[in-house]
Amino acid sequence: MTFWSPGRARRFAFCKKFFRLYYEEANQGLAPDAPESLRQLNRRKAILAPGESLVAGLNAALAKAGAPDRMLREAERYCFLFDRPASEQEMFRDAITHLKNCAAVEAYFAISGERRLPVDKIPVRHLAGIQIFSSAFFAWRSTPGRVATLEFSAFHDPMRFFLQKWYLFDRFHIAAERIDCTIVDPSSGIEFHEDPTQAPSPEEMLRTILLSHAEMRDCTAFPFTDDRKRCEDCRFSDYCELLRARASE
Ligand code: SF4
Repeated sequence: MTFWSPGRARRFAFCKKFFRLYYEEANQGLAPDAPESLRQLNRRKAILAPGESLVAGLNAALAKAGAPDRMLREAERYCFLFDRPASEQEMFRDAITHLKNCAAVEAYFAISGERRLPVDKIPVRHLAGIQIFSSAFFAWRSTPGRVATLEFSAFHDPMRFFLQKWYLFDRFHIAAERIDCTIVDPSSGIEFHEDPTQAPSPEEMLRTILLSHAEMRDCTAFPFTDDRKRCEDCRFSDYCELLRARASE
């Protein structure tokens, strides 16, 4: 395995079996001669969890729109395009309301287009032969000599800020000290700003990635989680129950 991302690390920590089903077995469902059970697993993988869907919708809307009003319309369109259940549509509407008052979104639209940096849809870095992926984010030249970033995410850990800064340095040669990072949780509209004085060192972050990658690479058993509460929200739960039953026979 030569990939790493915060999402992979999160899924691995959630449940080793989930990780295996999500990244390996579900992909086998794409083969033309795959059995129906694996095809179904693949379809389940493609279903976005409500939070993922919200973030994807907002990213798509913000990237496409040239003004806040248009962005909000795009976000709504995305919500209905995928025929999400009523509870999720409600979540989208709440998020859109939060974003109307979001200072980071306002700042993004306040600057002219040429000050926005062309950040790749999937930012990638390389470390010791490993491809490091992270989520989409937006970046722009905010004031002379400084760059601001905005990412929609329910997670606002130091690793996300670090990955943004690392990418901007690799791609645009912008020093970390000149970057002000903001993550907005769309479900609440709360903005999280990085406090660079509290950030772990880059060496520490790279060590964390290498250790996490090694743990995933060396895992061979992929056990079921013991925490049954996690299974309640798991998109693979019925398929997994069959596996469990077979394993205990
Ligand atoms: S149902 Fe539970 S054990 Fe199975 S993959 Fe999901 S979280 Fe893991």
